[in-house]
Amino acid sequence: MAFDPQAIRAEFPILDRQVNGKPLVYLDSAASAQKPRAVIQAISHAMEHSYANVHRGLHTLANETTEAYEGARNKVAAFIGAEPSEIVFTKGGTEAINLVAAGLGARLQTGDEIVLTQMEHHANIVPWHFLRERLGVVLKFVPVTDDGQLDLEAYQRLLGPKTRVVALSHMSNVLGTINPVTDMTRMAHEAGALVLLDGCQAIVHKPVDVKAIDADFYVFSGHKLYGPTGIGILYGKAEQLAGLPPYQGGGEMIGTVTEDAISYADPPHRFEAGTPPILEAIGLGAAIDWMSGLDREAIAEHEHRLYARVRDRLAGANWLKVLGEAPGKAAILSFTVEGAHAHDVAQILDRYGVAVRAGTHCAEPLMRRFGVTSSARASFALYNTEDEADAFVDALTRTQAFFA
Ligand code: PMP
Repeated sequence: MAFDPQAIRAEFPILDRQVNGKPLVYLDSAASAQKPRAVIQAISHAMEHSYANVHRGLHTLANETTEAYEGARNKVAAFIGAEPSEIVFTKGGTEAINLVAAGLGARLQTGDEIVLTQMEHHANIVPWHFLRERLGVVLKFVPVTDDGQLDLEAYQRLLGPKTRVVALSHMSNVLGTINPVTDMTRMAHEAGALVLLDGCQAIVHKPVDVKAIDADFYVFSGHKLYGPTGIGILYGKAEQLAGLPPYQGGGEMIGTVTEDAISYADPPHRFEAGTPPILEAIGLGAAIDWMSGLDREAIAEHEHRLYARVRDRLAGANWLKVLGEAPGKAAILSFTVEGAHAHDVAQILDRYGVAVRAGTHCAEPLMRRFGVTSSARASFALYNTEDEADAFVDALTRTQAFFA
């Protein structure tokens, strides 16, 4: 399969926009990706032709919508090598992690240990802090090396008889580092701990086979994967989901309800209380269909080429500090510009039509690790081009001159 970024771009209507009189250069896909027409059309088609609430419907539209919703679950399952019954729809990656943390919390005790890493997004820190506050579990953090990798020797030392859970990102949203999650999962299992992987970034940039990795839980969001907002995925091994208590109560997640007793539905429905994100699931299914028709290796190579081009052109820029450049990292460039606040850098880049993110990227421990309070972040996606990489470098060079 050939990969042609220009043909891909043509499928994203928003990329034709002008911003501040300049062509939009969208380098904020790690925060949220733009949507191809296939996704936009799948959602509007459902609303225009085949929409009702799902499950237990006895009319045609309810049945069609249920089929589309459950069909999306099948697509997600096939995409990551899981069974449909192991896929729970949530409202996002954040909710998926909260669901697991709350559920596992029911069987943790004071002094139990949870191993996280210094490069986690707050979504994979705060839910575990809740357990620290409520139960007195101990949080331990795997340190990050200067080049942005996890210190695996330190990780091995942190694992012990009290470790109950290891929760870590498959790929850092700040550094682009791709962590050796298969090995790290094996090490955690050898210590008797369960493993949750935050795949919000990794799923976008590499094929994921949850059975090969062998993690107990794998989590991601739809909106970074070219799908809509409001939909996330929790994959859990069948036996792990079976052992988790429900997260929220309401319709559709019960077996029976009487005035003095309740029983619960089996997973995944046990975890999908109330009307689920139907249109969002259908949109995510369309995004996965669309992704599945692309050569993902060629996309990764394309993104790496853009990153390398930017780095080459900025090689002599002594005013630029790049956070962590681990071998094999994905195409995310987090940086600071000497003498300029990251927010100002982002605002000036916007005048040139270049969209980057600035701040802590919901990763304050990592910012502290690198001795900065914030950074700017340019993240490359399959629809970015070499011209855009050049436009970014030119705009950044002018931005720096503004502060020099
Ligand atoms: N983890 C990582 C690594 C992320 O990049 C993000 C999104 N920035 C999240 C978790 C949270 O995802 P969401 O905001 O879609 O729930």
